[in-house]
Amino acid sequence: MELTKLKAHELKSLIEKKEASVEEVTEAHLNRIEAVDEKLGAFLYVAKEEALSKAKELDGKVAKGESLGLLGGVPVGIKDNISVKGMQNTCASKILQGYISPYDATVAENVKNADGVILGKLNMDEFAMGSSTENSAYKLGRNPWDLERVPGGSSGGSAIAVAAMEAPLTLGTETGGSVRQPASFCGVVGLKPTYGRVSRSGVVAFGSTLDQVGTFGKDVKDCALITQAIAGVDHRDFTTVDTPVQDYFNGLTTDVRGKKIGIPKEFFGDGLDTNVKKAVEEALKVFKENGAEIKEVSLPLTDYSLATYYIVACAEASSNLARFDGIRYGYRSENYADAVDVYIKSRSEGFGTEVKRRIMLGTYALSAGYYDAYYKKALKVRNLIKGDFDRVFKEVDAIISPTSPTPAFKIGEKTDNVLEMYLSDIYTVPVNIAGIPAISVPCGMANGLPVGLQLMGNYFREDLLFNLAYSFEQSTDWHKKLPQL
Ligand code: GLN
Repeated sequence: MELTKLKAHELKSLIEKKEASVEEVTEAHLNRIEAVDEKLGAFLYVAKEEALSKAKELDGKVAKGESLGLLGGVPVGIKDNISVKGMQNTCASKILQGYISPYDATVAENVKNADGVILGKLNMDEFAMGSSTENSAYKLGRNPWDLERVPGGSSGGSAIAVAAMEAPLTLGTETGGSVRQPASFCGVVGLKPTYGRVSRSGVVAFGSTLDQVGTFGKDVKDCALITQAIAGVDHRDFTTVDTPVQDYFNGLTTDVRGKKIGIPKEFFGDGLDTNVKKAVEEALKVFKENGAEIKEVSLPLTDYSLATYYIVACAEASSNLARFDGIRYGYRSENYADAVDVYIKSRSEGFGTEVKRRIMLGTYALSAGYYDAYYKKALKVRNLIKGDFDRVFKEVDAIISPTSPTPAFKIGEKTDNVLEMYLSDIYTVPVNIAGIPAISVPCGMANGLPVGLQLMGNYFREDLLFNLAYSFEQSTDWHKKLPQL
């Protein structure tokens, strides 16, 4: 039996039935990483020792007849902007080279408490800014379906690791699509929860009012499992909300009869690849066959989403990234004349091009003369976009669109054209602007590359999104396809 081919929920029950030990499962994944990661670049740090010692500890528990927590000894990979005590947390930036987290992010603690085995830290675009993982200061991430193509981003490493069977489950982060877009490019399931559903404590901030930790799995059930393990209120993050977490994992059902699904016409216009469009249209038929009602809806402000997102995200980033100054953590320039020069040189040398571009854009948008014209205006438009969703969710239970307008693009194809790169998030950013949850699930192939379908839901309706995605998945075979490596 090839353990790495199994889903997390299958591994969990094998361990439960004592048909595999946690150590065997962990070793199988560590071996897989060793065999394929040089080609793929998913991991920035492999926590071999830590993972094996945790595995032994959990096997000890099993031997004593104790039952394991929700994650049941299954390995989990974590994006390198989420703190795990004793491990690096570089955000794929040179400025955080050598920095070791002194504490666990709440979500890392959740994984540990649920008896997950942390396998290491995953590659990403620097400070989660990007859509291709090409902005990593350390290594390129490659798409397991075609090594000449990007895995998407910014959580590219998290998507590669699941698609390439290096880790059954991973955590990523979202500010504008960084979980859903790479999930769709790599043919796996990815969820961005409601803003406030999952703690951000210990997660390096990019755009604080948009950021949310997201989850990856090979199928919907796996994604529900890892989400279950990390969702909930946290006294260390006052933006988390104290509403009950539904039972995503055990409550999964394929019965979606009578559910109303909206199709926003604005998400099917110019720029949408014809193969992607076809795959999504085929998927709609499956939802209909399963008893859902489909109707057209309108989100008229969609066109303003990207502009709004880039003002808000950059403004918040410019403020959040002020703490990286060459004094407190990580990289410090070696040649400086005085204190101010330390800041200037360390930041100029430590940050990559995209990060500096965003700090400049954000600082400009927040400056005294332009605050009203840009930042304040963007906040107003943000409210209107949110209003669009509120109105549509009075008519329908969920909204379907493509996750990204195209399948994975070639490495280098968009690096010289920043606006083109930004456009690959056109269908995902409205969700972060409104703060609602959304999931990407494989729904087809276009010239040998996976295509993702996006389901958006109302606040705290992750349960419904999982059920809709599950009913689709169980009626199709897309989630069974594996990349040839
Ligand atoms: N690609 C988008 C950006 O570059 C979204 C990133 C994210 O979600 N972290 O900002």
